[in-house]
Amino acid sequence: MTYSHLDRPVQFLKGVGPKRADAFARLGITSARDLLYHVPRRYDDASTVRPIGTLEVGEDVTALGRVRSKGVIPTRRGLRIFQAVLEDDSGMITAAWPGQPWLDRKLRQGDTVLVTGPVKFFHGRQIQPREMTVVSRGQESGGRTGLIYVTYPASEDLPQWVLRGVFDKNLDALLGWADEDEYLAGDALERYRLPPLGRALTFLHRPDEIRQADVGRRRLAFDELFFLQIVQAQARRRATEIEPGIEHVRTNELIRPLHEALPFELTEAQARSLREIYADMQSNRRMSRLLQGDVGSGKTAVALFAMLLAAEGGLQAALMAPTEILAEQHAANLRELVEPLGLGIDLLTGGLGAADRRAALADIQDGTARLVVGTHALIQDAVSFASLGLVVVDEQHRFGVRQRMALLDRPGLRPDLLVMSATPIPRSLAMALYGDLDLSVLDELPPGRTPVQTVLRRPAARDDVYDFVRAQVEQGRQAYIVYPLVAESEKVDLLAATDEFERLREGPFSHLRVGLVHGQLASSEKDAVMRAFLAGDVDVLVATTVIEVGIDVANATVMVVEHAERFGLSQLHQLRGRVGRGAAESHCILIAEPADGADERLKVLRDTADGFEVARADLRIRGQGDLFGSLQHGRDPVLRFADLMRDEDLLVVAQREARGVVASDPELEAPEHARIRAQLTGRYRDRLEMYGIG
Ligand code: ADP
Ligand code: MG
Repeated sequence: MTYSHLDRPVQFLKGVGPKRADAFARLGITSARDLLYHVPRRYDDASTVRPIGTLEVGEDVTALGRVRSKGVIPTRRGLRIFQAVLEDDSGMITAAWPGQPWLDRKLRQGDTVLVTGPVKFFHGRQIQPREMTVVSRGQESGGRTGLIYVTYPASEDLPQWVLRGVFDKNLDALLGWADEDEYLAGDALERYRLPPLGRALTFLHRPDEIRQADVGRRRLAFDELFFLQIVQAQARRRATEIEPGIEHVRTNELIRPLHEALPFELTEAQARSLREIYADMQSNRRMSRLLQGDVGSGKTAVALFAMLLAAEGGLQAALMAPTEILAEQHAANLRELVEPLGLGIDLLTGGLGAADRRAALADIQDGTARLVVGTHALIQDAVSFASLGLVVVDEQHRFGVRQRMALLDRPGLRPDLLVMSATPIPRSLAMALYGDLDLSVLDELPPGRTPVQTVLRRPAARDDVYDFVRAQVEQGRQAYIVYPLVAESEKVDLLAATDEFERLREGPFSHLRVGLVHGQLASSEKDAVMRAFLAGDVDVLVATTVIEVGIDVANATVMVVEHAERFGLSQLHQLRGRVGRGAAESHCILIAEPADGADERLKVLRDTADGFEVARADLRIRGQGDLFGSLQHGRDPVLRFADLMRDEDLLVVAQREARGVVASDPELEAPEHARIRAQLTGRYRDRLEMYGIG
């Protein structure tokens, strides 16, 4: 491998040494490259930094001054105030930090500080900084870079002025080495209107104008997205191309009768998704596709047509559900649709008796069973299919690429794969999370649905809510009440399912049949309660979010969520999807304390029934880190620079570029791809580990 200056340990840079190297390591910086990519978190335009002499009471300002004198002042009420007099060429002002006497140890006379905060009147003008950065100490840097002041992410043992000093001594050299990592050819840079790495990093560290910093950020954002997509393009290729897939043969023998028998027309979105699926299945590329659509958008119907295509060609198709009850429900729904065509559905779950199980396994093995529904037990070793052509996975939680591959990579088995997800997510997030899959989206609900009525209530209105639930039950309906916790915790003051279950069935719902389900129950107990609710033997089901994954109970018309302010919007939308499945009008009642911004968020839910819109709002409000959720690995976020809301355009081109590279050189062996390979095994290795395969 060629030697890169950027690989040298940060310890050997000017002004670092072993002790500071330890402090850098705690910030996640161990190499020269890490330091180069440690870019400012904040930019202040000098033209908005105000001369101290001009500051006026009532303004909120940013100013830069030298500490002329300082000290801690006690007040009569025991509060200790740290004060410093700041000066520049235009004048002086007192800065005060009530209750922060410890700043006296941090600031020194002669330090230059950047402060932001309101100017008040208190024995004259006084600024009370919200933010303060020591930009220089003694002879170290003046902190002024052209007309923009930059502020780096710092730490207790690596304060701003130290970082700044290290950058001043090394940045020219670091920037000079930056293009050693450049992996994009000039024409690609031009095509995507991106600056080369050296220029992008110069923009980030030393912008002439704030605008430049964003140009630099976009370049690094492209890089992150590109490397993410390279790993996914490789996974996609391994899944779909290394060995040929099945070329399904379409005769319309089953598909046409199903069209004729269906009591409805397919929506445009269903028809489009089916065309995409048929094309994949009929080609010799193995299908690896995600079908995304809101609850009720008709994914099952789409899956069934795909299964019939496999069956027409004489192959078997299997649908896997996450729980036994869901598998049974799928089987019952599909049976209703295929029995008029003279077809059956075979069900294989752990709950089958020994004889039934043996019979099902035999049918699967000799090919009598053409359409099979089951849990993940379906792909276990004991099950051997005569000729499996398609697997549909009804996925309720996200699999990583690796898990998805493990699911199907067994010798002699290369069925097409269709993954269904009922968690609508914005297209950009889907591409980032599922870049190895092709994407079909049901962005339209079948006509004639009555949206679930959603209302917000305060805890004080709880009795009214209980009245409403009782009235619905009197009309023969059922209700869910969801809590954020299983059992009461000393740490948080939240209602918990187990305690509320006792209270409700002894108090407000003493005449009703109340059930309890939560994640700490054994699965057989969970199952029993769910079945009782499904059978109508329970009126009110007290639950935690385990029912998010839940079941389809058409007779349930009320969903009450307690502490709704505690839940994410997408999660609330999923919960709401548990009702509104039958003909009767349904209600979702969100009981929320007035918490910071909570009402604003919950109103999004009240005002829209569209899961994709809810997901976009969720992404905007919570940020992408949360949504990467369990896929996040270690402390380094998967995406540091890219913002999935703002950079969707970059994601599209990064995916195209990455798929192009992998198509031409799958293992990145060509000399022109050496730098891509080096960075994949180097700086991106840990961050992309979760996507890695083999
Ligand atoms: P999902 O799996 O996406 O939640 P389903 O496939 O269970 O949705 O469909 C929900 C309901 O809508 C089912 O009762 C199904 O028969 C019905 N349905 C599906 N497609 C259509 C359509 N195009 N027009 C009318 N009803 C439909
Ligand atoms: Mg195929």
